[in-house]
Amino acid sequence: MERKHRVVVIGAGFGGLAAAKSLRDAPVEVIVVDANNFHTFQPLLYQVATAGLEADNVAYSIRGIVRGARNTSFRQARVIGIDLSEHAVHLDRGDSIFYDTLVVAAGTVSHDFGVTGVEQHAFALKSVEDAVAVRMHLLDRFESATVEPELVGDGALNVVVAGGGPTGVEMAGGIMELYAHVLERDFPTLPVRSARVVLVEMADRLLTPFTEQSSTRARRTLERRSVEVLLGVGVDRVEPTRVYLTDGTSIRAHTTVWAAGVRAHPLAATLGVELTPSGRVVVTDELSVPGHPDVFVIGDLAASPGPDGKPLPQVAQPAIQGGKHVASQIRRRLRGEATESFRYRDKGQMATIGRRDAVTELASGRRFAGTIGWVAWLALHLVYLMGFRNRVHVFVNWAWNYLTYDRGNRILPESRRRGSELSVRSSRRSA
Ligand SMILES: Cc1cc2nc3c(=O)[nH]c(=O)nc-3n(C[C@H](O)[C@H](O)[C@H](O)COP(=O)(O)OP(=O)(O)OC[C@H]3O[C@@H](n4cnc5c(N)ncnc54)[C@H](O)[C@@H]3O)c2cc1C
Repeated sequence: MERKHRVVVIGAGFGGLAAAKSLRDAPVEVIVVDANNFHTFQPLLYQVATAGLEADNVAYSIRGIVRGARNTSFRQARVIGIDLSEHAVHLDRGDSIFYDTLVVAAGTVSHDFGVTGVEQHAFALKSVEDAVAVRMHLLDRFESATVEPELVGDGALNVVVAGGGPTGVEMAGGIMELYAHVLERDFPTLPVRSARVVLVEMADRLLTPFTEQSSTRARRTLERRSVEVLLGVGVDRVEPTRVYLTDGTSIRAHTTVWAAGVRAHPLAATLGVELTPSGRVVVTDELSVPGHPDVFVIGDLAASPGPDGKPLPQVAQPAIQGGKHVASQIRRRLRGEATESFRYRDKGQMATIGRRDAVTELASGRRFAGTIGWVAWLALHLVYLMGFRNRVHVFVNWAWNYLTYDRGNRILPESRRRGSELSVRSSRRSA
């Protein structure tokens, strides 16, 4: 029997899955490889971090996604190298997979921009594990402060969120809601109202990709909800209980969430091809690697040229549309047809600021804010969430949170308590 053309897709994020799903009835064999056996819906990670959703709600089994397609299989493995001349993808399990066409969609990793202490002491928000770690750390600080009240003055309940893009804005708003509606009632002996949630942004406004009006609205809403917004200042150094800013001031905070940026996954550098300064792979109009028409790079990892010639933003739509585009190019090539350039359709952008407030900007220039923007945000996220079961669970969780102001997902197992590591008493003892 003739061997089918084999397409290997690295990464089951938005881009990789869009490519694999669009090839399900094509005359090819598709192998999806991902380090995790689940797809992560990153836009809702902040809700896992702030106890609004369960980790399972934003993760979906990749095997469950591909099992309906007879030509598609999944391998859980980390790709540790790609050999373009041998057409081989090397896996951490010790074996290699050979491809006829390769689609690389490995996304990004958190980027600390060389700021001291971020890697050791700040929490990233890129994975389900990251989100659960933030939530447990916050709860642990509250539990510790009840037995050691001096911790409150040391900043145990304070949080610094670095980065005023959509993730930082959503995170700061979400933490403040968790404090005001849930933890204040859970911990009646603690001065939760005086806890500080500080959002630090280097630029002179929040949400820089959005219009000035949306930025102003986000800042005002957050400030009205008691989030402190510091603009035009960056984080200089992070310590376990202090954050030092570039203006020479410091904030006592036992929790720092790093939402200041991402960089291309280091796998890009192993390809040995041209990269942008931020590590993204330079691709042709059809999204293949120059000189390697059988290798496509999509999503956050690719510097896909937008209509203005600049790389497209690292958000879900370019990844999804890029995945569909490369699937269609693979089909065209198999039919002996010429490939086409990728045309990105900008659908606009949105960010939620918290309960009943979000900013939505359509590509047409129309803007929605407040409750309408928020409902649009909720609906769109439900539509793009993977799996009917997850949609139902998320919807039920949202309805519950909205109606009761409660958040059910705030467990802290003994094994995740940080004990006296950040204890004032123990640090005094060791001083
Ligand atoms: C907290 C957060 C909130 C966001 N909110 C929004 C939002 O509201 N709207 C929006 O449009 N975008 C949002 N984004 C951005 C959006 O999630 C990304 O642009 C999108 O996920 C990019 O898709 P991708 O397929 O390129 O990569 P990803 O979705 O990141 O997928 C990459 C996949 O590759 C796998 N992988 C990585 N390295 C390897 C390896 N070596 N071997 C095997 N597998 C590997 C990973 O496990 C992952 O499954 C958000 C991102 C974050 C982090």
